[in-house]
Amino acid sequence: MSTIALDKEMNPWEAQAARFEFAARKLNLDEGLWKVLSSPNREIIVHFPVAMDNGRVELFTGYRVHHSMARGPGKGGIRYSPDVSLDEVRALASWMTWKCAVVNIPFGGAKGGVICDPRKLSQGELERITRRYTSELIEFLGPEKDVPAPDMNTNEQTMAWIMDTFSMHQRQTVTAVVTGKPIAIGGSAGRRQATGRGVRVVCMEALRQLNMPIAGCRIIVQGFGNVGSNAAQLLMEAGARIIGIAEYDGGLYNANGIDIASLVEYRHRNSSIVGFRGADAVNSADLLLQPCDVLIPAATENVITSRNAGKVQARIVVEGANGPTTAVADEILAEKGVFIVPDILANAGGVTASYFEWVQDRQGYFWKEEVVNERLDEILKASFEEVVRYSQTHGVNNRIAAYMLAIDRVAGVIRQRGFYA
Ligand code: NAD
Repeated sequence: MSTIALDKEMNPWEAQAARFEFAARKLNLDEGLWKVLSSPNREIIVHFPVAMDNGRVELFTGYRVHHSMARGPGKGGIRYSPDVSLDEVRALASWMTWKCAVVNIPFGGAKGGVICDPRKLSQGELERITRRYTSELIEFLGPEKDVPAPDMNTNEQTMAWIMDTFSMHQRQTVTAVVTGKPIAIGGSAGRRQATGRGVRVVCMEALRQLNMPIAGCRIIVQGFGNVGSNAAQLLMEAGARIIGIAEYDGGLYNANGIDIASLVEYRHRNSSIVGFRGADAVNSADLLLQPCDVLIPAATENVITSRNAGKVQARIVVEGANGPTTAVADEILAEKGVFIVPDILANAGGVTASYFEWVQDRQGYFWKEEVVNERLDEILKASFEEVVRYSQTHGVNNRIAAYMLAIDRVAGVIRQRGFYA
């Protein structure tokens, strides 16, 4: 395969567009709606100065893309990374539209990013970048407009700074402008573990669907961050054996299962999983291709591509990350009979808990963690069943079923609202 072909395959916007077009054709979506939904509603690019600790001024570039606001305020994370691109943010924004529609919560899709390398920035620099980026976007944000959340390399602290900056401009505290905040300033119980919890729910539903027991089920997880570590911990508690963990700086393998609680502690102390004694050190890329019952890519995009999909030995792939499988790899996995729980369903636990946080902030009434978890499980279970039923009725795979269900829901709302011209 040529480099250009692989580049195209790995462009997340192209990957999103390929699935959208396939699903839209299956739905016989009319031309007008097709045009509206195949491109983002609004793309904001900001270049802003920040005073660095060494006294120099650096210029940073940030994006915020609103894909669709048809079903409600924009919802989607903000990521900090040296290789954030507009195409990536566009793709992530449209995935948010489809994700919110799959789990049927009243949000549209948005996403943001700032090109920066957080590992090379001090806390003070990160705070100034966050506050200035927020102020550049100020008129576009708000509980009824666009509600950011954490994503790669952003966290509760980042959300606290955004909430504070927005509130200073409004001259009043506005907690519902972001989700994924610390609990003390309007965050929700259960939000931190929610994406991993959702991964566990859909993983167990997929196992049930294929008549495979959770007890002793062999699972390999890529990415030991928020999503991967929580999913691994919760699945281990449910009886599964986490036999492999792949991180960017090395992998771990133990056929008898890795003790996830000890690994979380080890990672906390050492900032890496490398050197952990409860498993053998292995090559990360090879780990994804080892025999297992469930593979959970929970790190980043484009990890299962035309280059390695043929060698995947998992029976089930649960996409904790956004966009881990390319459209070409999808076809290869389908031929092998791999059961995929697509990202827009598998990692929707995070946005579902974000929805709960937004509701609680607006009500000023906070729920117990058991209530959050129970409602989360209920929504994820029902959405899984709906997607699988849709896939069986329409003779399409789970990913296309999830897209069709979502596109149909968003299109239905736009049809009812009509076009304002
Ligand atoms: P995170 O930054 O907490 O963790 C990501 C982990 O993956 C890190 O430990 C990092 O070292 C590792 N990693 C990165 N690239 C890797 C690679 N190439 N190989 C192996 N390991 C690698 O991020 P997160 O919040 O856990 O998000 C992970 C994925 O899940 C992203 O795709 C994100 O968009 C998606 N997601 C996150 C949430 C959420 O609530 N946090 C919700 C929905 C989707």
